[in-house]
Amino acid sequence: MQIERKFSFSLSRLSCFEFCRRAYFYRYIFSWGGWEEAADPLVRKAYRLKNLSGSKAWLSEIFRRTVRRFIREKTSSRTNPDLLLVGKSEFNRAWDEAVSKGPQCLPSGKTRSISELHYGGREAGAVLRSALANEFRTLLANFAESGFLREYGPIPYLQFRDLAAPESVEIGGVAVYISPDFLVLRGDEAETVNIHLGGFRDIRNWDFAAAFSAIFAGIRSRAARVSCRSVFFAPGELSVWASRPEHEARYLVVEKSSEMISFERECGGDAPPREEQEKCAGCEFRGICLQVPAAMPQPDT
Ligand code: SF4
Repeated sequence: MQIERKFSFSLSRLSCFEFCRRAYFYRYIFSWGGWEEAADPLVRKAYRLKNLSGSKAWLSEIFRRTVRRFIREKTSSRTNPDLLLVGKSEFNRAWDEAVSKGPQCLPSGKTRSISELHYGGREAGAVLRSALANEFRTLLANFAESGFLREYGPIPYLQFRDLAAPESVEIGGVAVYISPDFLVLRGDEAETVNIHLGGFRDIRNWDFAAAFSAIFAGIRSRAARVSCRSVFFAPGELSVWASRPEHEARYLVVEKSSEMISFERECGGDAPPREEQEKCAGCEFRGICLQVPAAMPQPDT
């Protein structure tokens, strides 16, 4: 079955576009179809590399997953879940997937791995695991003492939804993928929560993420008033109730989508020039970027 490649906007797509046009090409154009066994080996490789993330982003995802699961279990069952056990099971499951399967092309879907692990090998893996596990324990200890947990722990599950997978809403005619961590409903008021790992000065576009969450909550809940809360664990805790104005968020989607679509049209199947910069050292695609021949197979779009 042929799957159609459709454009959709997300902040991670925008940040890749702004990071490096060539990385964008690999991630969103060239790797398309790389999950197929019959695909060109280079395309399959690009697809595997696309499923890598840096250790910081990986840890952030595991932390958010743990927080969502813990709060869900705490508020929907009479049992009192153990935060450390929930965290341990999420961490071990994700680590085992990253180590044993790596970033593969599977018919059942993709498996994720960690860039430093992929490029650093097994020896680097042991050191990385211990560093990430220590950081994760500190984060959980912090979270256990947080004002956020004191406030959210007692809210009945029926009053909120945890949004584990990105959902899309249409903004300016473009599908936008949004993944707030929680949507809380209190009467005709809604509050979205985005959890971040890092200080609010370090997290790029968190204010746009909050604005998209507010648009999403307005559409899904039909609440009269929507507020957005961004919680930064760095590893201390800071809650910020602020976002970009809605018109700026809409403008960003329309403007940047148009730039990305034009870029995709213009480059076709040809990778843009390499960017010889320091950022290449941490880029997921360096394993293909430095070995791709001049003429590459055309992606099947
Ligand atoms: S290795 Fe450098 S030039 Fe190549 S895709 Fe990554 S950031 Fe861009």
